[in-house]
Amino acid sequence: MAVAKRITLGSGDPKRLFVGGLHGDEWMHTSALLESLDAPEAGTLVIIPKLTDRAYVSTLDDRYYEGYGRDLVAAIEEIKPAIYLELHSYRDFEGLTDSRRIDEKGVPAYVELEDGVLIGSISPILRRRCFSVRDFCVSFEIPAGDDGSQKLAKELLDFTKDCVSAARFVDFMLSQYPEQGRRAIENYKRFYGI
Ligand SMILES: [Zn+2]
Repeated sequence: MAVAKRITLGSGDPKRLFVGGLHGDEWMHTSALLESLDAPEAGTLVIIPKLTDRAYVSTLDDRYYEGYGRDLVAAIEEIKPAIYLELHSYRDFEGLTDSRRIDEKGVPAYVELEDGVLIGSISPILRRRCFSVRDFCVSFEIPAGDDGSQKLAKELLDFTKDCVSAARFVDFMLSQYPEQGRRAIENYKRFYGI
């Protein structure tokens, strides 16, 4: 299997890893955005713009980590990022933001920030396997084929790539999006038991 392209910007700590194209054709809506990022002000940013274009398997499914998700786990184990970001694209807004998602899928619902851009948690399988509670992990979802969300998504990625801590990210979220930020943070803390 071909190794996914990797872009490394900057050097030293903190280390960040941003990943797109986690399954199926979602890379088409996210890879260019990831590739447009500049080096962080401090530390390292590693970008995997397109992990795969193979058939969709959910990151909430164990089988994901037995297939092309193995490459993702290997990259995380090698880079050991303190800040980890997934950029997905979606077609099913209702499914992702449904408050029953925690009961049906075992993960909290995504929260819409603005312009269809959603913030939520990465898969608990990956979180448990690769990260400690000190690491900061976030997942963004942007609508497939909707250019209106690209500008905000770029701003969020730009901010996160310059973040040196989860606390800084939390401050930013609460100042920009008091209501949504509070919900997203509550979900995060409850979900990860911190
Ligand atoms: Zn996805």
